Amino acid sequence: MRIIRAARVLTGRPGEVIAEGEVLIDGATIVSVGPRGSAGEAGEVVELPGHTVLPGLVDAHVHLGFDATVDPVTRRSAESDHHLLLRMAENARKLVSAGVTTARDLGGRDFLDLALRDAIEEGLAVGPHLVAATRPITITGGHCWYMGGEADDEVAIRRVARENLRAGADCLKVMASGGQMTPGAPPSWVPQYTTEQLRVVVEEAGARGKGVAAHAHAHAAIRSALEAGVTTIEHCSFFTPSGHRYDAELADLVAAGGTYVCPTLHGVFWRSREVLGAEMLDDWLSGVAAMREAGVRLIAGTDAGFVSSGVANRADGFVASLEVFAEAGFGNAEIIELATVRAADACGVGEAAGSLEAGKRADLIAVAGDPLTCLSDLRNLALVLVSGRSVSQTGVDTVTSSAG
Ligand SMILES: [Zn+2]
Repeated sequence: MRIIRAARVLTGRPGEVIAEGEVLIDGATIVSVGPRGSAGEAGEVVELPGHTVLPGLVDAHVHLGFDATVDPVTRRSAESDHHLLLRMAENARKLVSAGVTTARDLGGRDFLDLALRDAIEEGLAVGPHLVAATRPITITGGHCWYMGGEADDEVAIRRVARENLRAGADCLKVMASGGQMTPGAPPSWVPQYTTEQLRVVVEEAGARGKGVAAHAHAHAAIRSALEAGVTTIEHCSFFTPSGHRYDAELADLVAAGGTYVCPTLHGVFWRSREVLGAEMLDDWLSGVAAMREAGVRLIAGTDAGFVSSGVANRADGFVASLEVFAEAGFGNAEIIELATVRAADACGVGEAAGSLEAGKRADLIAVAGDPLTCLSDLRNLALVLVSGRSVSQTGVDTVTSSAG
């Protein structure tokens, strides 16, 4: 048993702060959370004066198989699975070194995300707990077709969905609209599937108790994803041929439906703003701010791995992505909520992660300072625990006493 003591503990329950708090951990699991002295005696006590302990961060949208150095279509033939898996392991290490203890991988090839997920759980690799979508379902030649999930009609969609789930996918990803990254695919403002086709994906996932993440830039795709009952809408950028055109009526429907939205704000926002122009990026960010006002349940997710305006969106840029939420007017407590408990709920792992509560996984971080006052204090990591296992800042697993 181990006690982690700090100047304050943010439990992850909205607004709850325990001054001079402590967390009691038994192996991989949290036993209790309370004020100093409440945990009683333990074999090991970690004293962290001046620090804040909070739930491990959750990145709800990553692509571990990308790192922005090689065009993904070329990579399909140029990089072996063996090499790619090592790259993914390195990206997982970067994620956890930034305090991310759960990440949802929303698309990769050849089920490598499942191999990495299981290797991390076994202690063979260092990284966050992974929620893996495997191959995104897309039309033939559509957005990210090269990941292997092409399906054009209901029968084919069911087939790919069932194959992903048979392999062990934790959720399904469907490309409801086109995107920017795939040469020859429909652009972002064009839907790829009908509402009825998206319902098939939701039905197949639901039959196994899993959720669906729908990539949707176009207005019609956002509407279809909502009507089909997906769990999370990715990007939700209201994109048209002439840029972002926020739709208040549609956003109100998303809010009323309770569907989570991951706007994929990323840490290279300011660099993109220089490259693409202030108007484009400011329109995007004001859309995110407007969704917040409308009451949409927004969550953090970086789309790490993808190139944005020629700039690498690296796996260790998570805190920078949270600073973009601050730029959009979000308060620090709210940002921490959408990057922990709310994101965990959206990813379907709220029972095990996202907050510090008895019985949940010992996924937590400690930072010097107080991120409620200064968000960038989240960069001052002193401790990262993934199921009770300590990960140092170089990503090396420093404690092997997690077996209990
Ligand atoms: Zn993505």
